[in-house]
Amino acid sequence: MRGDLLRKELSVFTFQDFLFHFPFRYVDKTKFHDIKNLTEESGEVQIKGVLRRLEVLGEGAKKRLVGTLRDATGAIELVWFKGIYYIEKQLVIGTEYVVYGRLTSFKDGFSMAHPEIETINPENLERAETFAPVYPSTDKLNNKGLDVKARRKLMATLLQQLTEADFPENLPNYLVEKFRFPSRFQAIQHIHFPSDQKELDKAQNRLKFEELFFLQMRLLQIKRRRKDTIKGHIFGNIGEYFNNFYEKHLPFSLTNAQKRVLKEIRNDLKTGIQMNRLLQGDVGSGKTIVGLMTMLMALDNGFQACLMAPTEILAQQHYQSISNYVKEMGLQVGFLSGSVTGKKREKLLQLLASGDIHILIGTHALIEDWVVFKNLGLAITDEQHRFGVKQRAQLWKKGHPYPPHVLVMTATPIPRTLAMTIYGDLDVSVIDELPPGRKAIQTLHKTENHRLQVIEFMRQEIAKGRQIYIVYPLIEESEKLDLQNLQEGYEAISREFPMPQYQISILHGRMKPSDKDFEMQRFVKNETQIMVATTVIEVGVNVPNASAMVIENTERFGLSQLHQLRGRVGRGAEQSYCILMSSFKLSAESRERIQTMCRTNNGFEIAEADLKLRGPGNIEGTQQSGILNFRLADLSKDGEIVKTAREIAYRILENDPLLEKPEHASLKIYLDAYAKKTKAWSKIS
Ligand code: ADP
Ligand code: MG
Repeated sequence: MRGDLLRKELSVFTFQDFLFHFPFRYVDKTKFHDIKNLTEESGEVQIKGVLRRLEVLGEGAKKRLVGTLRDATGAIELVWFKGIYYIEKQLVIGTEYVVYGRLTSFKDGFSMAHPEIETINPENLERAETFAPVYPSTDKLNNKGLDVKARRKLMATLLQQLTEADFPENLPNYLVEKFRFPSRFQAIQHIHFPSDQKELDKAQNRLKFEELFFLQMRLLQIKRRRKDTIKGHIFGNIGEYFNNFYEKHLPFSLTNAQKRVLKEIRNDLKTGIQMNRLLQGDVGSGKTIVGLMTMLMALDNGFQACLMAPTEILAQQHYQSISNYVKEMGLQVGFLSGSVTGKKREKLLQLLASGDIHILIGTHALIEDWVVFKNLGLAITDEQHRFGVKQRAQLWKKGHPYPPHVLVMTATPIPRTLAMTIYGDLDVSVIDELPPGRKAIQTLHKTENHRLQVIEFMRQEIAKGRQIYIVYPLIEESEKLDLQNLQEGYEAISREFPMPQYQISILHGRMKPSDKDFEMQRFVKNETQIMVATTVIEVGVNVPNASAMVIENTERFGLSQLHQLRGRVGRGAEQSYCILMSSFKLSAESRERIQTMCRTNNGFEIAEADLKLRGPGNIEGTQQSGILNFRLADLSKDGEIVKTAREIAYRILENDPLLEKPEHASLKIYLDAYAKKTKAWSKIS
């Protein structure tokens, strides 16, 4: 009966499952808090004090029993809404009580609703010395007698019947000693029933390490195995194309970061193992040129290369800039998207199959079955998170006898520890340096009472010949309202900047593609000075003359989205500005986000902040991976453990790739079982 319930409500099937359903918090009755030290973050606390006042207040639905509890340092309010008269009878003013409950702040003090309340006597003082687990539960469980107290009891009984032998050590002994970890069994006992915070920390620490360590072992095993089995073309030569471009056509000198990344890529391509490399770099860091020079390495070795972008606009942009870079080198660059049809497409496919096209740039159309290369040696994709596993597999099939080398470029920086996990089986390169001479975008936060000042600023920028974006949020759930906002914003701006002196564009996702294009082109050609738009401008718009962006309702945007949007300005030589408009009252989190934006232009710093604020599940590109379902570990807090776990896992596999050494016997057994459970991951690359 209880078994059924546990199975249904918590997917608990075995004692193991039950034991590994860890408490999500603890009731700490080991200490009494001084009232003067309470803060809004105190949460649930235990306080010892004397009841000073007790009275029934209010009428009807608002009727409540209110008391004052005072200790040597201050007072809090106690309040009951139910069972008022019963409770009133139990309590005696002037008596010392122990209360336990959740604090809420109230006027200039704190209040505790429906506290647990007991008089002080030696017996309950002794009993109070506990640190009790609280488990995630459901109404059904609670109603059917498996509430928190029953769960605690069941857990305690179960643990009493088990011994060390039931939890064989799965880490090598030298690690347990090095980190002074408790044994597995101890860790499990202590995570359920710690005697104090220190013991709990130790138990959690070991179990988190275990969790992250086995994940890293697994990811690195997958990576090693792939490298052992998936062969790749050997690009042994650096030849004419590359050297010629480097010496004669490269319009600037590469940054050190670009050089470093090219070296990393070059090393991959020599090995005869298929490259799977992720290239991260902020907007404007110069990924395109790195991509192009990698393509030239392929061409130098007699292969074709392709570059795939998620949208037509982006693909067009790449096509134009790459054609431009190589225009004097006698190379054929082709473009393919859904809009290339008929005779034009036929011709292109012919040239592709004969090898006369060296570089093909395009959209998803590139991976269709009817696109046949003569010999594809390298595939680059831009904006990785928009491509699924299946699409990547389709791309792989296009090379023969080996799959093409793969370089994935993304402008959505992912914090290092997260990258180690989500892309733990890929190689990662980072361009962490912007080309010289860029002026950092100035970001300012303004509220509604500064509106006139902002309008005045816009007028000045336009007078200097610049263009301006005004961005409104638009989300599906409130689309109608958001569009209305946008429309009203557009009208208000049109009154401030009247025709014919000023021209204004409007752009949103609900417009017909041809209208969108028309409006976009007007802005690109500098026929309009202001572009009022939703986030559709986020991807693939490049207007160097647009030097200012005003973001409305900033509090409704996520951090990485704000950063992506801001990347639309700062593309020219002028000083650029980003103005974040928000309401005056802001939640602590919104304030933090806006402050982060004003403080830094660095995408990695912003990604780290985003990870801390929202947790790893919300970072773009992480949702589908399923790899982040940890029991205990939290990537936004446990970055250090991730790094250590990865380093150690790496060293173990370097020294003992098949885990044959006796000290790794237990590790191997556990890891093999773990690998079976997590089979799906090997598909993530
Ligand atoms: P992203 O990483 O966002 O794709 P791009 O490759 O589009 O960046 O580069 C942004 C701009 O910086 C381009 O105009 C490019 O020509 C320029 N650029 C790239 N690398 C350098 C460099 N080393 N020195 C100067 N300008 C550079
Ligand atoms: Mg780019």
